[in-house]
Amino acid sequence: MTQKIRPSQFITTYGPGSIIELPDGPVLIPLGDEGLFLENNPYGLKVSDFAINDQRMSKGVLKEAKIFRLPTNSELGLENDATIYRTKKFPEWNLCLNSDYHPTRTDILYNFKERGQSACPICRVIPDTSRLLKGSAIRFVSVCKNGHLDDVPWYDLIHHGTTCSETNSVINELKNKNSLLWKTSAGTGLRYTEIECPRCGKSENLGSLYSREINCTARFPETEGLKEPPSRKFDCSVKANIMQRQAANIRIPEIKTLLSVQSVMMDLNSQLQNPSIVAAIKITLKSIDPEWKIHKTKITTQEQLDDFFDNMETLDVAPKIIKKFKDESLEALVQLMDDFNKPIPVGYHDLILDEFNELRKASIYGAPPSAHQSKSKILFKAEKGKRFVIGKNTFVVTPISKLQTISVQTGFKRDDTGDDLLQSDSELVKTSFFDDAGTEWYPGVSYTGEGIFIRLDGDGVLSDILNGDDVKQWLKTHHEETTSGEVDYT
Ligand SMILES: [Zn+2]
Ligand SMILES: [Zn+2]
Ligand SMILES: [Zn+2]
Repeated sequence: MTQKIRPSQFITTYGPGSIIELPDGPVLIPLGDEGLFLENNPYGLKVSDFAINDQRMSKGVLKEAKIFRLPTNSELGLENDATIYRTKKFPEWNLCLNSDYHPTRTDILYNFKERGQSACPICRVIPDTSRLLKGSAIRFVSVCKNGHLDDVPWYDLIHHGTTCSETNSVINELKNKNSLLWKTSAGTGLRYTEIECPRCGKSENLGSLYSREINCTARFPETEGLKEPPSRKFDCSVKANIMQRQAANIRIPEIKTLLSVQSVMMDLNSQLQNPSIVAAIKITLKSIDPEWKIHKTKITTQEQLDDFFDNMETLDVAPKIIKKFKDESLEALVQLMDDFNKPIPVGYHDLILDEFNELRKASIYGAPPSAHQSKSKILFKAEKGKRFVIGKNTFVVTPISKLQTISVQTGFKRDDTGDDLLQSDSELVKTSFFDDAGTEWYPGVSYTGEGIFIRLDGDGVLSDILNGDDVKQWLKTHHEETTSGEVDYT
């Protein structure tokens, strides 16, 4: 059974380490290698075929790691209900509610398998199962703020980590470590449920377990192979809590988004990351100026570009790609070459500032600038901004008819406190994986859309506003209301 997830939903809502509800029950989404790109995967998917090339994101945010997008059913020519991203059943403990058919007259909490499939140990031997309810995954899981997630260790919790005395005699079906009695009395709260071991009679109250800290198993289920057993290291520095698996704070994704806003941002731009093309440019530059690195020499003439085309041929760059370069105008190529070796701002904050500058430039000159002729795909297109006066202020409104964004899910946090405030000391767990060549890949999505950029006209506007009478009055009022008197607003 499958669930349709759009690539954007995968990045914004789900992603590796999330629990998703399928018609057959909840499953866990593993990292991209296990879920999609593992060797001998059914569709022969290779992560490099799904790369999103974005140098600013890779260098500025991801420490040189790369970005992959999700394949879609339609591009692989698959039926809509075919599974592409493989998942694993989670949690593994289930609840069977057929208490009328159980000799114990209780519900059964079980992690029992028959031929690899979860099955209630009692109901599985009942000949006519037509009137029986199917067991369903238990709604509780164990979570810690270091990002670990596991089944609740029900058996160990009931026995306080000791072995079962096995003093009670039980029916054959319950002679295993994977079946417990789920005894619910009248009432809907968790405290009306007792969980009992049928073999020794030890029991715990669910309500009391729920409010207690438990030992963390230090499991990252998203890193495990789909067929591998759970890997539990028991070396976590913090305690875990029992949570409902559908709680929103069980997995809070961390997403970084950048705009592709270079003035001549064309699809050729991404070719500047192709190692053979980089080599061809370097050879060309070296022939122009052996000390090109120091002098920041650029390729600027048609003659130099012809030399670059020849070098690409020598280095076996695909003829299709060479043609793309040759089809481009001299002006566009010179602007493109200007981007080569340009330092990329490091850190999210500087990248956002960089974007703001490009947007500001676009609102003045338009993007690409009007003189620019390009045959290749333009990823950022804006008209010059128009001025509007509202009250005392002039705004510049710039329509952006084409805009590409790149969003990457860099990781997630698990918050086990259960309160509404995000627990800031939760550890970030990365959602990347390493391929066989040691390259790190993060899941991402690229979007093409449109937008409006609005800014105040002129440079001094903001400081005029901030030093204006309105702000002074607001600060004065605020100051009078501040009882500490230690805040200096001058
Ligand atoms: Zn049953
Ligand atoms: Zn026991
Ligand atoms: Zn932990």
